[in-house]
Amino acid sequence: MEMNNTSKIVILGAGYGGLMTALRLEKQLHYHEAEVTLINKHEYHYITTHLHVPAAGTGHHDQVRVDVETLINTNRTNFIRGTVSDINKEEKVVHLEDGTEVPYDYLVIGLGSEAETFGIPGMLEHAFLIRSINSVRKLRQHIEYMFSRYNNEPDHPEYLTFVIGGAGFTGIEFVGELADRIPKLCKQYDVDPHLVKIYDIEAAPTIMPGFDQELVDYAKDVLEKKGVTFITNTPIKQCFADGVVLANGQEIKAGTIVSTLGVRGNHLIEAAGFEVMRGRVKVDEYLRIPGHEEVFVVGDNALIINEESGRPYPPTAQIAVQQGETVALNLAKLVRNDATLEAFKYHFKGTVASLGKGEGIGFMGKRKFFGSTAALMKKLIDARYLYMIGGLSLVMRKRP
Ligand code: FAD
Repeated sequence: MEMNNTSKIVILGAGYGGLMTALRLEKQLHYHEAEVTLINKHEYHYITTHLHVPAAGTGHHDQVRVDVETLINTNRTNFIRGTVSDINKEEKVVHLEDGTEVPYDYLVIGLGSEAETFGIPGMLEHAFLIRSINSVRKLRQHIEYMFSRYNNEPDHPEYLTFVIGGAGFTGIEFVGELADRIPKLCKQYDVDPHLVKIYDIEAAPTIMPGFDQELVDYAKDVLEKKGVTFITNTPIKQCFADGVVLANGQEIKAGTIVSTLGVRGNHLIEAAGFEVMRGRVKVDEYLRIPGHEEVFVVGDNALIINEESGRPYPPTAQIAVQQGETVALNLAKLVRNDATLEAFKYHFKGTVASLGKGEGIGFMGKRKFFGSTAALMKKLIDARYLYMIGGLSLVMRKRP
């Protein structure tokens, strides 16, 4: 009987890290050098870095998703639309919810993160999230529903109050977008704009913790002028269906509560028996799990310490993409029995946060960007990513 010795590479998640691994493997490997399978919950890849736009309703969710099969070469990569339910690291097999079993020789985990609520009671049950196409569709429709409801129940002004938990990257980008949408919603639903309140609550002493002070001041000024009220240095103590209670005892009634408090690693990794810290795996220099060198981790689930700061690199799309590139390179070497693997080295290129239409802040090296320049930079970064995964035609189709 003829044995099939072709290595089976299985990639979990078609997000920034997983998709880039698959795309780069298509370039690195020759036909039949390995059998590559990409598994993802949905038939589409979504541009997470833009989810705040459909979440607030200033853009449509179709603008931030792309069918995976239009990005990969299906002759080279098998695509399975399925939800991973379990990873059996001893038997080297992945189980899907529909009962399918997918064996592997090499596994790449790129399942992305889950919302972190820091144990705040009620947060997981009552707060909306900005994490997926499904979660932002629900949020956008709820916002519109609150406006339409207010006109029928005007003794409930809290329907027009928004509480956003967290003033980090996601929280800031969302309030910028939401503030832009409010005037249009008020017009559409015949609501007095003065009745609408947006509170962004942050436990740290400042918004956008870790950002340069000049950029933080600029962001605060822009967003406050758009009608956002920041409450800093004040954690949320409890969340209810109709509002929040803060650590200082203040109660805020609200029709919409959104949690952007942070992220933790995917629960499936811990459930598989791998050692994790807040759900993330401390990977080796090649992004492998120590003791399980056939398993690579990319993106939000990979924990890497920045030697300069002594702290973990924050989970970003930028690092996920670079990790995908390195993992693909090393997998190609491994299937060729080349042991000269390349260590992962992160090249931080800077960062830009949107503050709504035509506004933003960012930095690259020592250079800081404000306002329309930062907004343009954000568009260029988005266009570059789209170009990397789908070429010019995708850039033209999505027009970031
Ligand atoms: P993801 O991109 O999250 O992909 C994970 C994939 O796995 C998804 O396709 C998901 O559907 C799939 N999946 C999950 N569970 C299963 C399962 N059980 N079975 C099958 N498939 C599954 N980063 C930046 O660098 N710049 C930014 O400007 C920026 N802005 C952001 C704005 C927002 C609103 C948010 C939420 C994040 C932002 N980030 C930004 C962070 C960035 O999006 C993440 O760090 C990045 O998406 C991580 O990539 P990943 O490959 O680990 O996972």
